[in-house]
Amino acid sequence: MSMPAVVMRTYNMFKDDSSFRKLIKQMSRKLSKMRDPVKQAKYVHKKVNEELKSQFSDPLVRELVQCAKGCTGCCHTQVSVTEGEALILAEKIQQGDIRIDLEKLFRQAEAGESASQFYRLDYQSRGCVFLDEDGACQVYDDRPSVCRTNHVLSDPKDCEIKTLEQGQNPSVQLLNTYSSDSWIYALFSESRLSGVLPVVLKRVLSQFKVRDIHDISKSND
Ligand code: SF4
Repeated sequence: MSMPAVVMRTYNMFKDDSSFRKLIKQMSRKLSKMRDPVKQAKYVHKKVNEELKSQFSDPLVRELVQCAKGCTGCCHTQVSVTEGEALILAEKIQQGDIRIDLEKLFRQAEAGESASQFYRLDYQSRGCVFLDEDGACQVYDDRPSVCRTNHVLSDPKDCEIKTLEQGQNPSVQLLNTYSSDSWIYALFSESRLSGVLPVVLKRVLSQFKVRDIHDISKSND
């Protein structure tokens, strides 16, 4: 299990509260009954969307959030996903709905779960393979749960993390999404496989037939 840092922070903040622990248990039970990792991921995505819709109905939140289309700092960091989330993305690739740079994905996957190895890559090489040339997410409606909750309140320039040390700098202030974080915690807890996006996606893609991987590579030539 590779819990996203921001989700872990929320968990650590409330873990001593018995009603919070009870809530997490209820959420986990709900997800475990679904069994199918894709179904679990889609359910949590819906729950996250609901919380964000409610938060963004407040004009003050809309005013405070600094994110804008094309600013992609958070898409150059390590993003954690569950198996279900990776399967949703892998299906879009396999069906030819989107094209990604597989070589770049495999290079990123070589860093494994290590943040220090990942931040040794240059900034461009760290860009998520789902970013298009205009800095937009090609899988916006199917993006992983943590990509949905990332809304920055601080200066967006601080999101452009160039080194590991900068990544540990607390100057990046995010909108609190406690309900979503709780659902994401339950999702990762229930997932058989989770980790950083390049590693989990590569593993999920490798479960397809080798011929299919070659087909994907060719379509990206
Ligand atoms: S999936 Fe989309 S939102 Fe998430 S890191 Fe990749 S490009 Fe960014």
